[in-house]
Amino acid sequence: MIVVKRLIAIFGILLMLFLAPAGLLADNEGRIRKVVIDAGHGGKDPGALGKHSREKDIALAIALKTGGYIEQYLPDVEVIYTRTKDEFIELHRRAQIANESQADLFISIHCNANNSSQPYGTETYVMGLHKSKANLDVAQKENAAILKEEDYQTEYEGFDPESPEAYIIFSLFQNAFLDQSLEFASLVQSQFKERVGLRDRGVMQAGFLVLYRITMPGVLVETGYLTNSKDEKFLMSEKGQVYIASAIYRAFKEYKKEMEKDLPEVIVPEHQPFMETEEPVGAYEKPDTKSELAKAEGKTYFRVQFATSAELLKDYSSRFKGLNDVDFYEHNGLIKYTSGNFFSFKDANKHKNNVRKKGFNDAFVIAVKDNQRVDLKAARKAQP
Ligand SMILES: [Zn+2]
Repeated sequence: MIVVKRLIAIFGILLMLFLAPAGLLADNEGRIRKVVIDAGHGGKDPGALGKHSREKDIALAIALKTGGYIEQYLPDVEVIYTRTKDEFIELHRRAQIANESQADLFISIHCNANNSSQPYGTETYVMGLHKSKANLDVAQKENAAILKEEDYQTEYEGFDPESPEAYIIFSLFQNAFLDQSLEFASLVQSQFKERVGLRDRGVMQAGFLVLYRITMPGVLVETGYLTNSKDEKFLMSEKGQVYIASAIYRAFKEYKKEMEKDLPEVIVPEHQPFMETEEPVGAYEKPDTKSELAKAEGKTYFRVQFATSAELLKDYSSRFKGLNDVDFYEHNGLIKYTSGNFFSFKDANKHKNNVRKKGFNDAFVIAVKDNQRVDLKAARKAQP
């Protein structure tokens, strides 16, 4: 079945290529077609340490989610990862991967740290000379990763990441991609601020070796401070990682749109990531008959929330196998999926256990009124 569908899909694409006006598909000039997602640190280099977390783990989780959203929702973009597991990759090697792939954008994902537990929030850096000691500190901390490399003195021509004087070389750096890098950096920061509600510490410049060596626009995102307990908790949570990754994804989508706005439209074969399901529609459980009643205006009812995505999934109702009465609502720019509608919290809680058994381990009960999430405690209290 899958093979047949694939053949049909391939035939379809070939047909589209054949019918497409010449030149439209061949001309990739100026388009954003390849992005490198660089999860900072890895392997023997843990990066910054929080009380309960390591930068390398969080950076990887966010990097994989960000890349996943781009692959899923922007099928004409190829995502290249510098690492997809917990392994040590030299800084120069990361830049080399990006340069060899001739990527259009480089996104390096990190977490910040400070001697004080006070600072919190997000920063996005582009390559340049630091304008403050604080920015120099961040670059020094990130560049210190090379001290774990075997041959760093030769590889970086004697550059000492810990000596402030060494950073003077970056004042000679001509950043050919400064405008694009700044453009993307500010899109990332405004997504963090406006869509996720995170503190925007701004777009900054500093001498990061990994950005120094790339031959394309690039940024280094500091997604929060592991030394701040609130930031750390957020960055360690599945929800926090999804929010951060979807913000970077949306910034990328906007950047791509902006960069391509004056180019002729290109025919892109429609992406159908969920086509390869063999489950016939009839196999799903019947919708909950209570649902229509429960959705009556002004009434409070309970649903089981089990998944989140950056954009509404196509065919969402049939995508989640075996879950009945799948619905969604939007919150903070993300789509939340729920199953079932119940007047009684007890019934909803029972249903939650079933949803968890089907693999959605973090499913939980929410209270809803007029398709908006409301306070669960209050809703339970108000129950007859
Ligand atoms: Zn880092």
